[in-house]
Amino acid sequence: REEMNIIQGALELRTKTVEDVMTKVEDCFMLPNDAILDFNTMSSIMESGYTRIPVFENDRFNIVDILYIKDLAFVDPDDCTPLGTITRFYSHPVHFVFSDTKLDTVLEEFKKGKSHLAIVQKVNSEGEGDPFYEVMGLVTLEDVIEEIIKSE
Ligand code: ATP
Ligand code: ATP
Repeated sequence: REEMNIIQGALELRTKTVEDVMTKVEDCFMLPNDAILDFNTMSSIMESGYTRIPVFENDRFNIVDILYIKDLAFVDPDDCTPLGTITRFYSHPVHFVFSDTKLDTVLEEFKKGKSHLAIVQKVNSEGEGDPFYEVMGLVTLEDVIEEIIKSE
């Protein structure tokens, strides 16, 4: 029964973690912060269909900005505007969440905050050097809702 599934899904928010429902970093559509907003780049952004796009510096594990599709409203591809000009202008905050955060906690964060997307990170202490934050993927409100209403 559908009602049972929804109740089941809601109860599982307390045990499931962000890592269980996130979109993995290798599947994320992102842009390098030195990208140029020419026709090709703007086309690939539109084709991706995503509303929010993480922007990375140097490598995909270092997210420094979020580009919203609506930020592109006044951008003319013929001007070849550097992406950095746009992200600096709008300067949306980047929200981070640890991969072991429970879904009920992240749902509360999404309800409180303005943004419905968070970058998922963990502390990597496997190597020789100092521990560092490593990006694992992204999670949105939709991922959490889907976990509640999924009908399996
Ligand atoms: P909206 O529905 O608000 O227009 P959207 O369609 O871009 O936004 P969501 O609905 O929040 O994105 O999420 C849909 C799915 O896409 C989720 O599984 C989410 O993790 C994933 N997702 C969101 N943004 C990206 C992105 N930039 N790259 C890859 N996957 C993404
Ligand atoms: P985003 O999550 O990408 O920032 P958004 O803020 O434009 O998107 P939603 O998050 O979908 O919009 O909705 C936020 C609230 O604003 C909702 O309560 C929705 O009903 C309301 N809303 C969205 N679009 C309009 C609109 N054109 N006029 C009035 N209210 C709107």
